[in-house]
Amino acid sequence: MLFLDELPEFGTRVLEVLRQPLEDKVVTISRASGTLTFPANFILIAAMNPCPCGYYGDTQRECTCSSAMIARYRQRISGPLLDRMDIYVEVPRVEYEKLSDSRRGEPSAAIRARVEGARARQRERLRGLSILTNGEMRPAEVHKFCEVDEAGHALLRAAMRQLNLSARGYHRVLKLARTIADLAGSGEIQVAHLAEAIQYRPRSLQL
Ligand SMILES: [Zn+2]
Repeated sequence: MLFLDELPEFGTRVLEVLRQPLEDKVVTISRASGTLTFPANFILIAAMNPCPCGYYGDTQRECTCSSAMIARYRQRISGPLLDRMDIYVEVPRVEYEKLSDSRRGEPSAAIRARVEGARARQRERLRGLSILTNGEMRPAEVHKFCEVDEAGHALLRAAMRQLNLSARGYHRVLKLARTIADLAGSGEIQVAHLAEAIQYRPRSLQL
């Protein structure tokens, strides 16, 4: 797992280099003496602020950045890099009441059991294909294992139009919906699973 905190601070060049390993799970290094390819299969997790001061869109504190500053900051994350992210989540300020709430959430053991179940279902489905997880599915497997019904197609059509989804983005939505269905223990991808996957698509970072 590769965690990049303050993603825009890494600079455009470094971030663009990530596109190859994210896509192909290998990294190629070229030097005068030759070219070497190394395995680079990892899960990328990245965090960033909405703007340089960190308060853009906050309900309690005012952002002090100019719109030009915010635009420059966000432009460091290119559309093609965002397109390679499966899940994009905005995390607003947590209210005091929620932080101090003594009620416990779902225990980790229950979540672990659900993840292990979903992983087992994927292994079973992908048996003999030399891949283990939905995220690794190639277009042929997506076509075979991510069937959706008529209502699902209608939703996907609307999402492709509204979110300007690329072919890559379309396949990522289907793979993520397959995983959401696996976590729910569902054999079929239902409209609710698709809708959840679609809402995780990266929004454009441009203002
Ligand atoms: Zn700001």
